[in-house]
Amino acid sequence: MNKPQSVDLVIHGGTIVSDTHQFAASVAIDNGLIVAVGADHTMPAATERFDASGLHLLPGAIDVHVHFRDPGYDYKETWESGTAAAAMGGTTTVFEMPNTHPPTADPEAVADKLERAHSNAYVDFGVYGLLAENNVDQLEALAEAGVIGYKCFMGNTFGNLPSPSTGAMLEAFERIARLGLRTSLHAETASIMAWRYERLKAAQRNDALAHVAARPSVVAVEAVARAAVLSEWSGARIHVLHVSSGAELRPLAEAKARGVDITAETCPHYLRFNTGDYARLGSVIRVNPPVREAHDSDALWRGLADGTLDMIATDHAPHLPEEKHNDVIWDADCGFPGVETQMSLMLDSVNAGQLSLCDYVRISSVAPARAWGLHPAKGRIGVGADADIALVDMARAETIDQNMLHSVNARISPFHGMRVTGVPVHTLVGGRFVMRDRRLVAEARGQGRNVKRIQNMPAADVRNADRTLAAELARAPGAAS
Ligand SMILES: [Zn+2]
Repeated sequence: MNKPQSVDLVIHGGTIVSDTHQFAASVAIDNGLIVAVGADHTMPAATERFDASGLHLLPGAIDVHVHFRDPGYDYKETWESGTAAAAMGGTTTVFEMPNTHPPTADPEAVADKLERAHSNAYVDFGVYGLLAENNVDQLEALAEAGVIGYKCFMGNTFGNLPSPSTGAMLEAFERIARLGLRTSLHAETASIMAWRYERLKAAQRNDALAHVAARPSVVAVEAVARAAVLSEWSGARIHVLHVSSGAELRPLAEAKARGVDITAETCPHYLRFNTGDYARLGSVIRVNPPVREAHDSDALWRGLADGTLDMIATDHAPHLPEEKHNDVIWDADCGFPGVETQMSLMLDSVNAGQLSLCDYVRISSVAPARAWGLHPAKGRIGVGADADIALVDMARAETIDQNMLHSVNARISPFHGMRVTGVPVHTLVGGRFVMRDRRLVAEARGQGRNVKRIQNMPAADVRNADRTLAAELARAPGAAS
């Protein structure tokens, strides 16, 4: 590549971090892309030179699991506030979930959501299409409309979208295998939870731990194992959202060993909290799946270290404070904001020795970029990549304050009051500052781009193509040959 005469920005004095190395270098950025990485004296002239002395440069976090509630529930969160929170948290790409109103279940809903995102987003984004019982025939059209992948709720969720039957899931997987896109699964089996919920409620168990009792880990284990079987048969790529228990690691590891294209995430709340926290936090930490035992947190850390768990995501799920506080646990909304606090919490764990900074880059950026076909444009600080960079101060300590969250309508966080060391101080998306000196750059609103433009997902390794439902239907009398 010819060195440009003058570029937009050179960041110098910092330490660049990849999933394998840390090294002191300068970065030249022009027209949104990284055009040079190297010794400062080799850098081209620049409109701006930015001093990053004492800071680490990480490829921006890619959070494949956020709920921005827009359209339909914008009194909780909007594309503007949600992506502002992401920018403030060092997250440069988000994948947004389809349980909005209307759900993102057809091409019109995708177009409407993408327009909202384009007008308001501070960071890059992808939008999930819904995989449900009644829209299996829409999956190809959703891909055409620009979804980054699909979301399947195997268990109930906010928005009360019914979970599809296993039959509908299998036909959907058969169709999606040909498209190559990945399907993200809320892997909890609805029928088990509904049964236990009714029994517990009838027995007047309304305490916070009743929520855990309604969804023991077997609920997730059964769903992960079942989804892996369907994925293996069809060849469809899948991703397991919010792994909460150590018990899920076994079906995950076994599926990976069998060659199933399966990835998995956990979230900071499962690493940080356990059943001992319900007495203090009550309904504030009500989330699906629930926060579990201390030994589960330990197992999840081991899963991240050994690769059974591929990545960290947040399940950013904002609700109004009054929707979160309820003495009857069943009536408290599930989930809480997370996209703004993920990086600080995880960097604090780096400082505590739980993982290395390179590990953090792997699980926060490289792994999601690879799993959704965004690598090498994202997930790295290297020539030709999008200039999506989180500049972090590993020595800076802060106390998480929910009143400062940019999710302005949902300022309630179980992490409130936690002291963390390691803070993102500047964030660049596509070469522009979206956060500078811990302040949101208001002019960056609407600059986020749909990452679909760079997604490269070839057709999956389709299995049993001759036995799919479509193939069998083609053999019916009267079917066009
Ligand atoms: Zn979620």
